[in-house]
Amino acid sequence: MATRTQIYKEILREYDALRTEQAAKLRQRKEEIYRRLPRVREIDETLSMLGVQTAKLVLLKPGDMQDALVEMRAKQKELQTERRMLLESIGLTPADMELKYVCETCKDTGYVDNVPCTCLKQKVMDKLYDQSNVRDIVKVENFDHFDVRLYSEQVSKKEGISPRENAMQILRQALAFVENFADGGQNLLLYGATGLGKTFLCSCIAKELLDQGYVVLYLTAGQLFRKLEEIRFSKDEDGEKEEWDKELLEADLLIID
Ligand SMILES: [Zn+2]
Repeated sequence: MATRTQIYKEILREYDALRTEQAAKLRQRKEEIYRRLPRVREIDETLSMLGVQTAKLVLLKPGDMQDALVEMRAKQKELQTERRMLLESIGLTPADMELKYVCETCKDTGYVDNVPCTCLKQKVMDKLYDQSNVRDIVKVENFDHFDVRLYSEQVSKKEGISPRENAMQILRQALAFVENFADGGQNLLLYGATGLGKTFLCSCIAKELLDQGYVVLYLTAGQLFRKLEEIRFSKDEDGEKEEWDKELLEADLLIID
């Protein structure tokens, strides 16, 4: 199994590739826009020159510094307004001329003030557990798709309530679990025969919490135990095992299906 260092290296390479790709896309986008609106290129060139020109002016005539700055800011504002209006004329905004990030929080670097971003933690989890992408697992399911009408209204003699009423109670509890998640400490155990919707509910919960920025680990019991065994009984290269033990528990939510 890959060591911790290997996994981090691989992920940081992915971030790198992602930033390179986004930068290339931006260059392409800009060229296309400049082709359609040559005036925008002129404006951009002028804007980047403006600072230099002002600096020169200040050096040559230090006494006029205040006036020069005021004039520069006015010119800047005027050009930016013109630029925005030009872009809007073809259905774009100034944001289309800037880098786009998959994760706005860390700007696709994996870190915010040297602290790992949630997206980095999630990637580590995904790699550690060969979890292809938790978002793919939960893509389709969300609470909006939970249809209680699929359950019978017929009251069961054994349970004293109908399967539909039972499903609604479970749904309420699942929603409460998500709502109170930030307060922590609660576990949720769903049990019953196959095909009743446990996996579906798990996915709904995972999706909701992923959207709220939590790190989610979604595994079958088999996957989890295989991974624990692998860590427990594999050779301890560079004493990394202990670190992994810690990371295993780093997920905010662990779903064992
Ligand atoms: Zn991030």
